[in-house]
Amino acid sequence: MKTLVLAEFDTHSIKPATLSTITAAQQLSSSIDVVLVGECADNIVEQAKQIVGIDRVLVANSDFKTAEPVCEVMLNMRDEYSCFMAPATTYGKNIMPRLAARLDVMQLSDIIKVVDEQTFVRPIYAGNIMATYRCQQPQKVITVRPTAFAAATAGGNASVEMMDIAEAAVSSKFVKLEAPDSARPELGDAEVVVSGGRALQSKENFKLIEELADTLNAAIGATRAAVDAGYVPNDYQVGQTGKVVAPKLYIAVGISGAIQHLAGMKDSQVIVAINKDADAPIFQVSDYGLVGDLFEIVPELTKKLQQRRAAA
Ligand code: FAD
Repeated sequence: MKTLVLAEFDTHSIKPATLSTITAAQQLSSSIDVVLVGECADNIVEQAKQIVGIDRVLVANSDFKTAEPVCEVMLNMRDEYSCFMAPATTYGKNIMPRLAARLDVMQLSDIIKVVDEQTFVRPIYAGNIMATYRCQQPQKVITVRPTAFAAATAGGNASVEMMDIAEAAVSSKFVKLEAPDSARPELGDAEVVVSGGRALQSKENFKLIEELADTLNAAIGATRAAVDAGYVPNDYQVGQTGKVVAPKLYIAVGISGAIQHLAGMKDSQVIVAINKDADAPIFQVSDYGLVGDLFEIVPELTKKLQQRRAAA
């Protein structure tokens, strides 16, 4: 089976979610190509060609950003591949359903395990059930949950091919990107995540989370309740309808531990919960629990960590 992986990247690097997708691809395919669609600087192409286990890096250097033209690039190669894969990130989730529809196949979404060439496991019902799917379609379109697969390593030497890009006839137009200007790590890739819940009570109080996060060089997450209340932007949401994270350390502050939130963070390596209710469900999944008022505990914790860092 020949597989094409759609890479997600920015100006600095190939996203770790792409590396995890390549690992998943290696488990079902002996021949893997990676396609880069967008403004591909030399450093990105160089990084891509060094990923272990891929044959070719196909470079579609273009200003394509929306799903329509990116999808067209892959559709032009439809006869060459029996499997198309991308990470189940906002980027992959934007493009792959369109590809599946255009190929007239069912998409396999958010897989966490490759059993064999036709059989895949994916979580359903907020991760309460693992469903095994057998897919006998001649062509497969798959999105991969990045946290379920280790990142493919560097050390390879794939060939690089520049693609001829025809201007696609599309009805959507990219206007501008408004991204938060933050030095913090990205939520999906961070090794440490500090998340806050409804208990923070206001946008201003979320500063407590920001200070703790900055002390630990952590990304900031939140529950849907905190997002819906307007304390933080929507892209901070962790959970079933937000981002799925699996950092080395996840600190849940004033979060009850609803099943929909757990679906996005329960695979974190170490979970620390701070909650004033000793019976809060979050303590059932946490490795360390602090029962008490977050407005006392968090400033004290931040201060102690800052003192320790200053003394080191
Ligand atoms: P609460 O449940 O209100 O919990 C607040 C916690 O803070 C309590 O445990 C309380 O004891 C504690 N607390 C209060 N004051 C203090 C204090 N001073 N110090 C310490 N602790 C304190 N939620 C998500 O997070 N992500 C999702 O993706 C998501 N998707 C959903 C999808 C669907 C279809 C549905 C129906 C719901 C979804 N939800 C999601 C919502 C979810 O069900 C919960 O409502 C939400 O996670 C609760 O957020 P919370 O823990 O901040 O608030």
